[in-house]
Amino acid sequence: MTARKLDGQALATEIFEQVARLVAARVAEGKPRPALATILVGDDPASAIYVRTKQKNAARAGIETSDHRLPASTTTAQLVELVTALNADDRISGVLIQQPVPPQIDMTRVIAALDPVKDVDGFHPVNAGLLALGLPGGVEPCTPAGIVELLEHAGVGLSGANAVVVGRSNLVGKPVALLLLKRNATVTLCHTRTRDLAAHTRDADILVAAAGKLDLIHKDMVKPGAAVVDVGANWVDGKQVGDLGAGVEEVAGWLTPNPGGVGPMTRAMLIKNTYQAEARRRP
Ligand code: NAP
Repeated sequence: MTARKLDGQALATEIFEQVARLVAARVAEGKPRPALATILVGDDPASAIYVRTKQKNAARAGIETSDHRLPASTTTAQLVELVTALNADDRISGVLIQQPVPPQIDMTRVIAALDPVKDVDGFHPVNAGLLALGLPGGVEPCTPAGIVELLEHAGVGLSGANAVVVGRSNLVGKPVALLLLKRNATVTLCHTRTRDLAAHTRDADILVAAAGKLDLIHKDMVKPGAAVVDVGANWVDGKQVGDLGAGVEEVAGWLTPNPGGVGPMTRAMLIKNTYQAEARRRP
């Protein structure tokens, strides 16, 4: 078997175009253009590239951006002050704080200070809580929402499927498990204390590898025909590589390329969330 491609790049392009049409329609009605404020603390070159890409993606969808740069010495209080000002700024639809931030910053306090409606990353406890409770009205985090949208768009059956998620972080593993559960998958969450990882993964109709460990999932750990989502971003000789070992594509039925799978979908969901944040504030 050669796995079919879960093409995140292609679907992300469709989403940018969809959002661009929705934005154009709002502007034609005389409503304000959605606006994304990006915050970058420090001068990490990789983070600067990520922010630039997100700004370009926003522009592609007709969303305005405002760029906020703070020095690496910024304190939690100073970042909270900027976030509070952006909360109060009526022109701003959503706020993105590029992570990681320097170690002296307490991100729990910063995220708590953000208006949940402008939390386009879906990290605020109100949004995380709504997701955990299975209630509508919150903002879904971008990487998990992008994964589920990619699977659904490809027609991978989620209801009743055995879904195994490797990784239990608040950023990826936990929320993707909740989103799959919401769609009636039977979900198992694995982590470093899981006793026999392969016994779980071999039973997975849907396998989400989100550990950030090179060569973690070997082809003999994959159920034939499974849909496999490779979230991991490991760096080898300057190139991004996922969590899968060689030959998984021979066993899986569906597979995300890495790069070109989850990454573009994450950025597409950020743009969609920004549009929705504006539409929710000013219907
Ligand atoms: P994280 O906070 O480091 O969490 C990793 C999780 O994987 C933890 O729950 C950990 O278990 C588990 N894990 C690590 N090694 C394992 C092993 N050998 N067996 C089983 N479980 C293992 O990372 P994250 O933020 O969730 O991100 C995961 C990966 O996805 C990273 O490589 C990250 O760069 C990538 N990522 C990519 C995108 C994208 O857009 N492409 C977005 C977000 C993240 P414990 O809890 O027991 O420690």
